[in-house]
Amino acid sequence: MILDGKKVSQAILEDLSKQVSILEKKPHLAVILVGENSASKIYVKNKKIAAEKVGIKTSIIELVESTTEEELLSKIEELNASNDVTGILVQLPLPKHINKNNVITAISPQKDVDGFHPENVGRMVIGLEPYYYPATPQGIIMLLDYYNIPIEGADVIVIGRSNIVGKPMAQMLLKRNATVTCCHSYTKDLENKIKTADIVISAVGKKIVRCKMVKKNSVIVDVGIFKDSNGQLTGDVDFDYVSSSVGYITPVPGGVGPMTIASLMCNASKVYR
Ligand code: NAP
Repeated sequence: MILDGKKVSQAILEDLSKQVSILEKKPHLAVILVGENSASKIYVKNKKIAAEKVGIKTSIIELVESTTEEELLSKIEELNASNDVTGILVQLPLPKHINKNNVITAISPQKDVDGFHPENVGRMVIGLEPYYYPATPQGIIMLLDYYNIPIEGADVIVIGRSNIVGKPMAQMLLKRNATVTCCHSYTKDLENKIKTADIVISAVGKKIVRCKMVKKNSVIVDVGIFKDSNGQLTGDVDFDYVSSSVGYITPVPGGVGPMTIASLMCNASKVYR
């Protein structure tokens, strides 16, 4: 069965737009884009479209590639202090001369809709409620919940340990009482680990989950998205071979991607919910 992220995200966005429509004061998301990264421009455009659909006011702040770290931090300071702006998002990656961690740390945790600020991450790890959870893992949990897939007690393999997907994913699953194994490029015998998992969440960016690697009736969530040798968008999982033996699987595109956007919109409007 397909875990249809497109359909579920649309339902979430429709519900959110109803909730936002009755608010007297609308949420206001400020998105900072530094430089000319074409993929980043598309991501920002898509976020703006989704936000407008929901009724979240958006301001896109485009800064030139040569913007200094000091200038960016001062812009963030200004947005932190604004009574009108409720959420701040700095599109990554940043130009090399800017220290990403200084930028993430500068955003007020209460406005950190990406959930990357150390205070939000720390709160999540020690079991306190963060102001926001990172959008992609939160979107994946929403998708699993939508399809009533049991997380509690499940053996889950998370492949990838990035700060934006793998690590927070593992933490959020632990919070839901799953038994989590977080794998990475040094993991030994990945294939056998995948074979024993009830749920596999792959966030690598290359074909890693292939035919006959998966347990029958398991749940496969493919976070990876990249272009194959023919220029086609694809994911980490060999969908055509794997899908026939598993219970649930996300397509790429149309799985985790739309859920990430819907989850981000939940964050961007959360202060008013
Ligand atoms: P990332 O920072 O690119 O890191 C990739 C991870 O994969 C690393 O932890 C790396 O291990 C691990 N890895 C690499 N080769 C491996 C191997 N052979 N076996 C096991 N693990 C291996 O990760 P990311 O930013 O989370 O992105 C991962 C993918 O998800 C990309 O395709 C990205 O475009 C996609 N993505 C999609 C969405 C969405 O909304 N659909 C959101 C975010 C990311 P080491 O740590 O040891 O290097």
